[in-house]
Amino acid sequence: MPELPEVESLCRQLQNVIVGASIKKIRIMDPKLGSAPQLTGRRVTAVNRQGKSIIIKLDDDRCIRLHLRMTGRLLWQDGGIKYMVPDYSRWRIVFSHGCLDCIDPRRFATFQIGQIGKESSVSPDPLEEFDTDRLIKIAASRKICIKCLLLDQAVISGIGNIYACEILHLAKIDPARKASDLTRSQWKRIADALRPILQTAIDCRGTTASDWRDLFGNPGEYQKYLKVYTKEGLPCSVCQGTVRRIRLGGRGTYYCPSCQR
Ligand SMILES: [Zn+2]
Repeated sequence: MPELPEVESLCRQLQNVIVGASIKKIRIMDPKLGSAPQLTGRRVTAVNRQGKSIIIKLDDDRCIRLHLRMTGRLLWQDGGIKYMVPDYSRWRIVFSHGCLDCIDPRRFATFQIGQIGKESSVSPDPLEEFDTDRLIKIAASRKICIKCLLLDQAVISGIGNIYACEILHLAKIDPARKASDLTRSQWKRIADALRPILQTAIDCRGTTASDWRDLFGNPGEYQKYLKVYTKEGLPCSVCQGTVRRIRLGGRGTYYCPSCQR
């Protein structure tokens, strides 16, 4: 599932190829998405990320809001006269210089038209703010583990399974610990771990552990830097302990029991 770094990478790549361009045509291939919206001639003025959503702003105060959910990804093709339709393409936006497809085998990704400025409210973005006091307060009222709290999009937006595992490893905190039991200094370690991990992952255009691809069909590179995610049975790079996999909140969770307490 694309997380903050993957979605941010897509937004940055989209900014380079579609800002300033006008929409020629929209084709909806998946009937689940309804009929094609009337956006012919509209010019793209900006592309921004909001949590894990991609907001494509248009010159008439409307925007296209995309959420990739489980298996969605975007593919840009240009330089051709006729563009191939990729397998599992659900919609296509055609510009004069190329086209953008949403590839989504499981068909959960969403495509909505909205008004700029009326975006639904999202919880704080960890790249912009990580308010430890606020999180301590939320944790106190919730009986869940720290990893489940980090994954709760109503609390913090954008962190998913891969980066929650990696952040807690760098912060040396056991993912199964009750969030309400963490000390202020442990929260500080999470805050300090979060930014470098997310920032490096953005620079790497995300993690390709299975099917993730960037806007141009290339895999990300953060998998080279993973310390625990998918490393079950391998030695921990910090302490040489053995990385284990457990299930927390229904999700496979990787951690090092020796250095994460
Ligand atoms: Zn370790």
